[in-house]
Amino acid sequence: MRRKLVVGNWKMNGSLAALTEVSAIAEAARRTPGVDAAICTPATLIAPAVARSGGLPIGAQDVHHRESGAHTGDISASMLKEVGARLVIVGHSERRADHREEDSIVRAKAEAALAQGLQTIVCIGESAEEREAGRAASICTAQLAGSLPDDWRDAELVVAYEPIWAIGTGKVATCEDIGEIHAEIRRHLVGAYGERGGRIRILYGGSVKPDNAAAIFDTPDVDGALVGGCSLTADQFVPIIEAAGRG
Ligand code: PEP
Repeated sequence: MRRKLVVGNWKMNGSLAALTEVSAIAEAARRTPGVDAAICTPATLIAPAVARSGGLPIGAQDVHHRESGAHTGDISASMLKEVGARLVIVGHSERRADHREEDSIVRAKAEAALAQGLQTIVCIGESAEEREAGRAASICTAQLAGSLPDDWRDAELVVAYEPIWAIGTGKVATCEDIGEIHAEIRRHLVGAYGERGGRIRILYGGSVKPDNAAAIFDTPDVDGALVGGCSLTADQFVPIIEAAGRG
């Protein structure tokens, strides 16, 4: 039995003033004990968010694959850990697009984060053109093959399926489409890792909202959600966490 995991991705949003939302979300998450919740803030807010989060895990949205060195502007997994981050998102489609991150670099980042004990969420997902061409499943399995580590031991590996065309657009994949891709991801994970692959949590991401969350969480092989826009305020995020608690 996999517990539901609901992770907020604040992207390049938020401020010190907005951390009141973290406190409110943390309080609601404590009242929903059957669900794991977390928020990935901008890097500048990780330490102050940890101080306000009352134990709600706070994470980052990216990490460099090396430990230290001449990498201006980058942050390593041990640096994230030092300021209290407990998880990290890697391979988000916005990073794949904005920073030309390919599968091999996503995989190196995942390995670095896992080795530091950070719960690591590896994102995959197809574009609208790829879906229209009937290539959604093959694109996703190719991304998994290229982005996931061969092995890991120090932390939890999580996969997030985020169809690019559904992120921040208000367009949500149907539960049938989500179920098909999640089943394909599960087959890939079991093929790659055996019984351990059956325990990896698979999140859906893409315009998850309070009014569609319950149906998404009821879909087979959906173990939670990665939530962008609706994770910025307790008003919107808490109902999603509560829906996971009922799912
Ligand atoms: C995301 O940023 O990963 C995401 C799914 O965004 P949104 O929920 O806003 O579509």
